[in-house]
Parts: sequence; structure tokens; C-alpha cells
Amino acid sequence: MHILVVGAGIIGLATAFELKTAGHTVNVIDPDPAGGASHAAAGMLAPAAETVWGQHTLHPLMVQAAADYPQFIDRIEAITGERPDYRDNATLVVAAEAADRQALNELESLQQSLGLRTERLLGSQARAAEPALAANIAGAMRFADDHQVDPRSLTAILLRYLHAELVREQAIEVLREAGTISGVRLASGRVVEGHCVVLATGLGALAGAPELPLRPVYGDIVRLRPHGGRPLIEHTVRGIVNRRPVYLVPRRDGSLVLGASSREDGRAEVNIGALHTLLDDARRLVPGVADASLLEVIARARPGTEDDVPIIERVEQGLVVSTGYFRHGILLTPFAAKATATLATGGQLPAAQQTTLSLSRFTGGHLPAQPVEAT
Ligand SMILES: Cc1cc2nc3c(=O)[nH]c(=O)nc-3n(C[C@H](O)[C@H](O)[C@H](O)COP(=O)(O)OP(=O)(O)OC[C@H]3O[C@@H](n4cnc5c(N)ncnc54)[C@H](O)[C@@H]3O)c2cc1C
Repeated sequence: MHILVVGAGIIGLATAFELKTAGHTVNVIDPDPAGGASHAAAGMLAPAAETVWGQHTLHPLMVQAAADYPQFIDRIEAITGERPDYRDNATLVVAAEAADRQALNELESLQQSLGLRTERLLGSQARAAEPALAANIAGAMRFADDHQVDPRSLTAILLRYLHAELVREQAIEVLREAGTISGVRLASGRVVEGHCVVLATGLGALAGAPELPLRPVYGDIVRLRPHGGRPLIEHTVRGIVNRRPVYLVPRRDGSLVLGASSREDGRAEVNIGALHTLLDDARRLVPGVADASLLEVIARARPGTEDDVPIIERVEQGLVVSTGYFRHGILLTPFAAKATATLATGGQLPAAQQTTLSLSRFTGGHLPAQPVEAT
């Protein structure tokens, strides 16, 4: 079976990895492989710290994906001979001011309502675990099961593994012959034939495909090199500073990833105000940030849906949609890749997941019939 995966972000690449290792012929089509949201992502795998009220259908998928991560990473290493930069030490969530402790209280109540283990720390206990934290933090929580992966290391390994299958071009149209999916047309006019097309295009759209109810939620990301080149922190530190979220994620090479801004202003460029706030808030929690050197500042859009739950559905025979991963695409990857590969090869998802992940949940039970123009 020849399957075309359109989009080489983390979702398309991991899906193609599953398909190739299962013995299918696959092509991955993308003019800018791993250059979208996956390029910016901090890579926090945070089913506990990222839980918010009202996400009762998403939360089990987050927990399942996090549990599957160690095996997913081991399998990538076994097959490719390269190990992604995956770290399984705990995440600290820190309140900067006394007023920010309320956010910790709310998080703790939510965790307890879901039956999750919670661990409160005094500021002094958090500093004992992470000495670079500011002396005057107001409190903290520790999440032993919230880990992290460097998405760039993961996508680079998958891209090397899929090198021969990669087509570096934009797909503009899903093609049919006698009503059956037959391939895609590329921007150059070339046609790539296949029995099944997987749309893992993030926010990208193709003619001949259903219109997807997605919204871009921009995030600004800063990469720093701590002074002296030594890692400043060992744990992922998520913080609340004057009720604003901020996170600092340490990479194995000593660099630090800072983020948390969330903008729906339609502006793809880095926002200076958001950048200023991120740096200020990060420095409030970890003062050593002020001595670091700037490596990179970028912005990318998270592909969001109305309910923050992804769309994974075979919308017609031979056409599978897999997108809308919003702020959890890196976390959800092991689950998403397996589910998407299952649908691409004719299988079914469990009934409850079919309902949760369907495109038709946004359209009153119908699939949108109007093909859209490519963007
Ligand atoms: C600032 C920021 C921080 C984040 N942090 C985290 C985090 O800590 N943890 C977490 O789990 N998630 C995080 N996310 C979310 C995560 O990055 C996304 O959910 C995930 O990367 C989505 O992956 P994707 O493969 O669906 O999309 P993308 O990575 O955007 O990939 C889509 C690909 O499709 C290609 N494409 C589009 N249209 C076409 C076309 N017509 N033809 C061919 N190719 C096409 C694009 O070039 C792109 O490479 C973050 C996102 C952002 C922006």
C-alpha cells in the first residue's frame, strides 16, 4: 500500500515512521520539513501541569501519550540507531508571588479531582531541588511524571530515517480518479500517486480536502545559552509570575528554551512586548537568566481547534486528517502517530476516540463538503 503523508512536522514524520516500520511504502511531502510549530515547541510532556478544567476527553489521551513516550523513544533508537534527547526528570511549577499561590491551589484541586498525585513544596524545598531558583519564590509543586523531549532532535532523527521518502515540495490538491483517492498534485504541477493521503499539514490547507476549523495561536520562543556554558537548571521550571505563565526548559547541551506567550493576533512575527514579558518573568524565577546570551528568537503558530482536541479521522476512504494538536502536539505524538497510521491502513479507532477526535463534531455530524483552495 502506497501512502502519502502531506506535512513533515512531528505528526507527519512520526506517522510515516510507524507506516514505514510496518512495511508500507510511504512518501512524506513538505517544502519545509520540520519547520512549522514543531520547530518552535519547547517539548514539555506535561499531562499533569498542563491539565485545565473541562478537558475530560483530552486528558486521558495526554496521560496515555506520556506513558507511551519511553517506549516510543526506545523504539526510535532501536530502529534508527539514534536516541532523541528525552529527559524524564520531574517538572517544577513555581509561584513567584504570594498571590500566585492561588494558581497552585487551583492546579492542585484539579489534579485531586482527577485522582492524580500532587506534591506541594515550600519555596526552600524547591530551591534545594533547583538551586538556581530565586530566593524569594512563594511556593511550588513537583510533577514527577511531567517530562520533556527536544522536538528538534526527534524530528531530525525521523527526517534522516525518512530521507529517501521525502519530497521537498508543497502539495496543493488531493486528487481522485473515478471518485477514489489517487494522489496529490504538487505546486510544480507534478503528480505523486498513492492509495491513501494523510493530511498532517498543521494549519496548511489543500484543495480537494475538507475545510478544517483551525485557528493559529502564536507563541514566541527564546533560546538562551547560560553564562559559562554550564546548564543553569536541571528541571523544567514552569512558573506563574503575577498570574502570567512562563516556562524554562533545559536542553542537554546546556541551552535554555523560554516561552509561554499565546497570541491570536494573526501576526507571525515575534512580538516585542511578549518577548519582554517572557524575559522579565523568566528572570524573576531564575535570576541567572539575566547573564545568559541570546541564541534565537522565533514565533510559530499552534494549530488550535475550538475545543483544543485534535482531529484524527478518515474523512473518506483513502483520506485521513491528523491535525489540530494545539499546545500538546509533541506530547500526543506517540498516540497520534499510531492512531493516524491505523486509519491510513484501513483500521478503526475505539468508538469513544472516534467521537472525541472526529471532524464532524464541529459540523453537526456532517463533513464539510466544500473543497478549499490551497494556502
Ligand atoms: C511556541 C510553541 C510552543 C509549544 N510547546 C509545546 C510543548 O512544550 N509541548 C507540546 O506537546 N506541544 C507544544 N507545542 C505544540 C506543538 O508544537 C504542535 O502541536 C505540534 O508541533 C504540531 O505538529 P504538526 O506536525 O501537526 O504541525 P507542524 O509542526 O506545524 O507541521 C506541519 C507541516 O506541514 C507542512 N505543510 C503545511 N501545508 C503543506 C502543504 N500544502 N504541502 C506540504 N506540506 C505542508 C508545513 O511545512 C509543516 O512542516 C508548541 C507550539 C508552539 C508554537
